[in-house]
Amino acid sequence: MSKWVNNEKFEDFKNQKKGESDEKPNTGGFYLKWENPKMGTQEQPKTYKVRLLPDKNQDFYKRYYYHFFQSDDKTYYIKCPKTDNFENFCPYCYANQLLFKGNKEDQKRAYRYKRNERFVGNVFIVEDPRDVDKESDKKVSGTVKLYEFPATVESKIKNELVNEEEGFGPAIFDPEKGHDLQIKVLAKKPDANGKIWPDYSLTQFSRKTSSIADSDEEIKKIMESVYDLSEYLKSMEKTWEDHEKILKQELIWDDVEEVFRKKVSQTSQNKEFDTGNVDSKTVNDQNEPNEETQTYDTSKENDVSKDTGETEDDIDEDALTKELESM
Ligand SMILES: [Zn+2]
Repeated sequence: MSKWVNNEKFEDFKNQKKGESDEKPNTGGFYLKWENPKMGTQEQPKTYKVRLLPDKNQDFYKRYYYHFFQSDDKTYYIKCPKTDNFENFCPYCYANQLLFKGNKEDQKRAYRYKRNERFVGNVFIVEDPRDVDKESDKKVSGTVKLYEFPATVESKIKNELVNEEEGFGPAIFDPEKGHDLQIKVLAKKPDANGKIWPDYSLTQFSRKTSSIADSDEEIKKIMESVYDLSEYLKSMEKTWEDHEKILKQELIWDDVEEVFRKKVSQTSQNKEFDTGNVDSKTVNDQNEPNEETQTYDTSKENDVSKDTGETEDDIDEDALTKELESM
């Protein structure tokens, strides 16, 4: 070993690097995600086939809330603290409510901090029509990815779960004798702004059951490659210091600072915050507007589509993809 290189330090660094590569599959990085299915035409849907798979904790899929906006040339995709417990304080939800009570300009800005909903689960990709144009090492069929889906797709899955008479029940998560989810994406007619949104209404489960692999060993291998959903959601969290930085950058800090500091100090006093066991009476602030009564302004001043819900996810996804690809 050279005198210029400290052996001990090098070993430490090597081990750190080793650890990084070992952790990689579980950190919820962008590369794990399945590229959002693209839509076909108004008449002809694009069809994708996947099998939903439970993770190692037998979590089937999870709902989460997020805030998405671009600031200072950066795209922020932030897990809303209300994902874990609706009583949790979220500075963006709070900013959204605050601005919503203001004038028209403020209401427009409020939309920026809107809370969005999504679901995430593991899927084994049976068929992806985009594979045709891909090099063999880029094809995704036969691999496990995280699929982030909108409420319209979730309602199809949920229906299959809860309908005890007609639904396929646990068989929609069974790798061996299970039903594929056929995601069919049509294009809606252009809206008033000329924007075309995807339509998932034809999405359904295959009637026939099938196995995702030919042998038990192969299935086992596939099942071992699923991602831990809790860890994935955790990887999307930001610290309070991060939040403060972002809010300052957004020039909204002065408006939220007082409540933010109060909530954060209460949170750090109450170590159970993460598990959501916060006493809502002590945390609830008198000045906090009641978000349950909030409605969004969809008047002409708003440059957003009236058609809210799942469709917005696709704008988000595209912008996010662009951002991440440029990194
Ligand atoms: Zn929030």
